[in-house]
Amino acid sequence: MSSLDDFRAATRDWLEANCPQSMRTRIVAGEEVNGGSKRRSTNPDAYVWLERMAERGWTVPTWPREYGGGGLDKDQFLILLEELQRIHARPPLGGMGVTMIGPTLLEYGSEEQKLRHLPRIASGEVAWCQGYSEPGAGSDLASLQTKAEDKGDHFLVNGSKIWTSGASHADWIFCLVRTDTAAPKHQGISFLLFSMDSPGVTIKPIELLNGKSPFCQTFFDDVKVPKEDLVHNLNEGWTVAKRLLQHERSGLAALASADTAGPLERIRPELPLGQLAAEYAGGDIEPGLRRDIVSNDMTKQAFHLTQQRTVEESAGGTPGAATSIFKFVEAEYVKAQLELQLRIRGTQGVGWSGDTFTDMELSMARLWLEAKSISIAGGSNEIQLNIIAKRVLGLPD
Ligand SMILES: Cc1cc2nc3c(=O)[nH]c(=O)nc-3n(C[C@H](O)[C@H](O)[C@H](O)COP(=O)(O)OP(=O)(O)OC[C@H]3O[C@@H](n4cnc5c(N)ncnc54)[C@H](O)[C@@H]3O)c2cc1C
Repeated sequence: MSSLDDFRAATRDWLEANCPQSMRTRIVAGEEVNGGSKRRSTNPDAYVWLERMAERGWTVPTWPREYGGGGLDKDQFLILLEELQRIHARPPLGGMGVTMIGPTLLEYGSEEQKLRHLPRIASGEVAWCQGYSEPGAGSDLASLQTKAEDKGDHFLVNGSKIWTSGASHADWIFCLVRTDTAAPKHQGISFLLFSMDSPGVTIKPIELLNGKSPFCQTFFDDVKVPKEDLVHNLNEGWTVAKRLLQHERSGLAALASADTAGPLERIRPELPLGQLAAEYAGGDIEPGLRRDIVSNDMTKQAFHLTQQRTVEESAGGTPGAATSIFKFVEAEYVKAQLELQLRIRGTQGVGWSGDTFTDMELSMARLWLEAKSISIAGGSNEIQLNIIAKRVLGLPD
């Protein structure tokens, strides 16, 4: 037997013995673990699973061992993914630590920053949030105005961020700030890390129509940030910011992570769409709907195969501008899938409450609305298409 065969056998045995049964199903809302202690999973098994996986470094399988990772090479990583998928294991840890700031620090952090932050991300001890967007800077992110003044041994940060997902549960923030107001806008930005418990940080949850508050407006008044929390060079934060966005889009499209199924699988209805349609239409599915279901399923299959190929080619790393292709295609696929579910269910698909609807019908109606945000979060569709045109296809400005 080759050493890879041994690795597979040992991995299979270990997962069999250590993955709790309740962690072998689709993720249930409220049971996720995204790091930190301010928001707890409702399922205690989630922490058993997290601790066991973190001990082996398998919350971040390809990170070096000294930073809390598993030190797996490409082949071992792919085997681990296959074995996790085989038992339908949930990812032990999600959130912006493992998917966004961790991989970015691996590339751009100082040795001191890596040793300080990465092990605490890998163990799930710390939750992070993203301070990019501002009321006047979304798609045109480089127009951001939050400023950081040089005060010798520290920066003094003033300004505000908006749509800060999970800010009220986060322990730390990675934040884009303006450090040179005279330079061209992309060249006066720096990338800072600071604790959300720092004096001067105020968090105001933004309540949505459905009563949820997934994001906040975040205010900074004279927040002191030590100089050692500057990532990469002063005024070169835009380079770091762009790379982090590639990790974000890669995470959204579930590339290079243990969660290769990603949102595509998470929104999967209990039944394949064809069967769902047969159930609601009593077997008489109109031809237009039939065609759209098939076309949606073909997109899913093609996406899944391309996703697998990319994970294999990228050896656990994150591709560059091509991540925008995955982000765009997935956003469109997911929205189309939910539109189809709505069409199939008819009036049963738009229920908000009441006992004339099943739980599945009620939850899918909310998901249908929520999914509209997928083509905005992490950069809107139009921005992804701009990036694909310029950076992937090489078209002129
Ligand atoms: C669910 C969700 C979670 C989010 N979480 C975070 C977070 O944690 N941290 C954070 O910093 N931000 C977060 N955001 C904010 C997100 O990054 C921005 O909403 C997004 O970048 C768009 O910016 P905007 O909302 O200001 O829209 P605008 O930039 O004002 O865009 C409005 C419309 O104009 C279009 N448009 C703008 N410029 C162009 C152009 N050059 N070419 C063609 N069309 C254009 C856009 O595509 C869009 O349709 C989140 C957003 C959502 C929806």
